[in-house]
This record gives sequence, structure tokens and C-alpha cells, in this order.
Amino acid sequence: MRVKMFAAVITASVGLGACARISTQQEAQMGQNYAQQINAQLPIIRDAEANAYINRLGDSLAVLVDTQGRNWQFFLVDDPEVNAFAVPGGYIYVNKGLVLRAQTLSQLAGVVGHEIAHVTQRHSVQQMEKQQGIGIGATLVCIWQPSFCQQGGGDLLNLGATAAMAKFSRNDETEADREGLKYIVRAGLDPNGMPEMFEILLAERRSRGGGGGGFLASHPMEEDRIRNTRAMIQQLPPDQRSGTRDSEAFQRFKARLAALPPTPRPR
Ligand SMILES: [Zn+2]
Repeated sequence: MRVKMFAAVITASVGLGACARISTQQEAQMGQNYAQQINAQLPIIRDAEANAYINRLGDSLAVLVDTQGRNWQFFLVDDPEVNAFAVPGGYIYVNKGLVLRAQTLSQLAGVVGHEIAHVTQRHSVQQMEKQQGIGIGATLVCIWQPSFCQQGGGDLLNLGATAAMAKFSRNDETEADREGLKYIVRAGLDPNGMPEMFEILLAERRSRGGGGGGFLASHPMEEDRIRNTRAMIQQLPPDQRSGTRDSEAFQRFKARLAALPPTPRPR
């Protein structure tokens, strides 16, 4: 079975000389540009209450740890796939499907923390810096499920003309998991939500028959990440290995999202 992929790929000319470092200001400018393109093409949920919630959660994870003072913005996408992605400059997109699959606040925080870490660790920006010398337009892809994106197919939402598809290295993913766990702990939430969310994903993949063959079967991404993040949590000081797991506000947010009418797809 072909796994449906949700990804946004967009191009932009960075317009810098080779090897130049992209400044925080340039990153903000690019991010804003990307976010405008994405928001014009994806079914972004505009419900004020749901948006207030995801932005409060995101800010509680991001603002304390971001030394660059980015203008963080969190968006909900009306897409059933379990996915999320990040855009340089601090724009984080979370699919409705992911929120609905999360059973607790800390599980959702695990994903959001991971995406925030891709931005604070400048993973996309560093790729752009490397690409400038050979004149490739900047690309973004932060896919919460990197194994999906490496298939290079699926329902790729192509927002640009010819976009080279960047993907984060295994190292970047591991770093985003490790950093993300720190942010979750700092916000007083339970870091175990992150491996728990991987477990949900793994169970879903198995129930879809995804373990039966193909790329996903040969790249047991979730299994590795469950093991690795559990080990990272064991290395934390004992008082940081637990925290708030859930809240009534999260459950209300989830119920509200579930009840919203479908968002029309922009044309
Ligand atoms: Zn990632």
C-alpha cells in the first residue's frame, strides 16, 4: 500500500554568496515568505479557540528556549494524516490527524517539541547555507515521519516550481528528539509522551499492514526512535523523567477539533 505523504516543498532564492551564514533576520524573512505560500495552499483551520490553544502550547515550549527571539506561530492543518512540519523562522504546522491520535497533552507536546527543535537547531537553514554555493533554491521539509518522505512520492504537495527535496539526516532527527525532550521537561510536561506518540504511530502502521513490505518495513524508524528516546529519558535527572501528562484543556481542544466542520481547501 502506498503511504500517503503530506509534505510541503517550496523554493526560494536565498540570494547570498557562497558560504554566507543566514542571519536570524534573513531566516525570519524566508520563513514569513514560506508561511504565506503554505497558508495560501493548505486547508488551515481558522477556529480562534483551537488556534489559541495550539499557540499557547507551542509558546510554552518554544519561547523559553529560543535565544533568537523568533516570532513563533503554530497552525493546525485540516489533514487526517499523522504529521507535522516546521518552517524556518518559527512556523510550526500540526495536522488535525495528529492531534486526534494523541491521547494526552504530553504526546502532542512530544511532536511539537521535536518540530520546534528543528527550527532552533537551524536544520533547514544549515542545509540552505550548504546549498547556496551550487545555486539550489532553498527548500524545506520537516516531516515528522522522515521514513515517509524518503519514498520521494506520495501526495506531495508541490508549492514550488522545481524543488529539490531536502530531508533531515538521521542525526538531525536524533538531535530534534533530544532537544525536544528538553523543551518538554522545561515546560513541566512528561517527556514519555514523545516515545508514546511513536508507539501510536507504529501501531497504526502495523494495523494498516505497513509492516508487510516496502520501504517502511525495511526502515524501522519508529522502533529505533522509541528505543532511543526512552534511553534519553533514562539519562535525565530522576525528577525530570516525569511531569504533567494530560489536561482538561487538551481534551477540550481535541474534542473541539474533532467536531469542527471540514475546512475548505484553498484553490
Ligand atoms: Zn523531524
